[in-house]
Amino acid sequence: MNSDSPSSSPAKASSTLAGNYFVSNYPPFSFWSENQKVEVEMALNSEPTPGTKLGVYHHIPFCRKRCHFCYFRVYTDKNAKEIQTYLDATIAELKSLAQRPLIRGRKPHFVYFGGGTPSYLSAKQLGELTDQMKAVLPWDEAEEVAFEGEPGTLNAAKLSAIKQVGVTRLSLGIENFDDHILEINGRAHRSGEVFTAFERARAEKFDQINIDLIAGMVEETEANWQRNIEQTIALRPDSVTIYQMEVPYNTTIFKEMKAQGKLVAPVADWQTKRRWVKEAFAALEAAGYTIASGYTAVLNPKRTKFLYRDELWSGADLLGLGVASFSHAAGVHYQNLTEMEPYLAAVAAGELPIKRAFRTSPEERMIREFILQMKLGRVRLGYFTAKFGVDIARRFATQLGHLEAEGLLAVGADAVTLSRDGLLCVDTLLHEFFLQQHRTSQIV
Ligand code: SF4
Repeated sequence: MNSDSPSSSPAKASSTLAGNYFVSNYPPFSFWSENQKVEVEMALNSEPTPGTKLGVYHHIPFCRKRCHFCYFRVYTDKNAKEIQTYLDATIAELKSLAQRPLIRGRKPHFVYFGGGTPSYLSAKQLGELTDQMKAVLPWDEAEEVAFEGEPGTLNAAKLSAIKQVGVTRLSLGIENFDDHILEINGRAHRSGEVFTAFERARAEKFDQINIDLIAGMVEETEANWQRNIEQTIALRPDSVTIYQMEVPYNTTIFKEMKAQGKLVAPVADWQTKRRWVKEAFAALEAAGYTIASGYTAVLNPKRTKFLYRDELWSGADLLGLGVASFSHAAGVHYQNLTEMEPYLAAVAAGELPIKRAFRTSPEERMIREFILQMKLGRVRLGYFTAKFGVDIARRFATQLGHLEAEGLLAVGADAVTLSRDGLLCVDTLLHEFFLQQHRTSQIV
């Protein structure tokens, strides 16, 4: 059993064992199946629900090097021609989706380039890709275009191209400011590149620059973590996102643990990681930031939004393009094929390149939105009454009462509000709200 198992007490300290702690969707991926692929066809052939926002996620699965903690589908050996073949396939996929009744005539409200490393693309590839995407589904009504960048790939011309194509939110995967820790965790960039990339990004005047950090990388120390916080505050980004290091099964770190017969990952325990994030949040608040979720601090909450997260967590339709990408269409979750060759072959054959899917029931959609919004630290009860006709305080009275007694949240007349301690372990609290059949010891 790991620290994230439904029956473990969320507040207890524990070693970091292998597995995922981060809850990114509901029902869990392990319940999605190949048998439900037909549901995707039905969803795409249905009419959109009025008022439902549309987003596009484009997955760029290429990186300079594989980080030791990475569990994503990434390729480090593709040449320019292979990358172009992949990008062309994603455009073919978009064209085919855009003709479906669910999408036809709609414009994306938000666009997200994730990976992998979107900034691994050349300025030319990026310009051509986005021109083609816009020709299929115009972005003129998109309020946010978010883009993940790896500092070592961001030269001046690249950053200017990223700005030029319309990116509003640039997220820099810094993770740590210490070169030894970056190296030992397999990151491709070094701290010198962080400062140069940040300065150049500021000069381009992106609406929002986010910095990603990870608390508890291999060989992280108390003193170095404090330096990470100080350096982050000195840069004064618009937002800071801090993840607590997890060690999923398909990472290099886990493979090494297995080879050495170790059960505990060589990283700080959960209690230490939570304390580090708590200290970072406190320092960021003292520097004028506001805590906007269990992972994020923002400098100006009125101006700095993260639509991709907020719309997704409120039931938006999301078209995921590319290998292994995740989508949500009219209540149906699905994931694309996770290997490059089958993905390319399916698109070339004019088929939907889908690996697994799950049609959600109205109750599962309500639970999904509730648990995802819990990560924001505050869930408005009126939203659930209006959208689902559900009184959250009554529906989840037992679970909420239990968590309230532990001091992890408070149930008020209008909202459920998490305490700081509750927010820092929010992912471990969410399983209590899953339907019984979805409670498993392995959280994926
Ligand atoms: S840069 Fe991100 S996606 Fe690429 S290997 Fe590292 S963690 Fe994985």
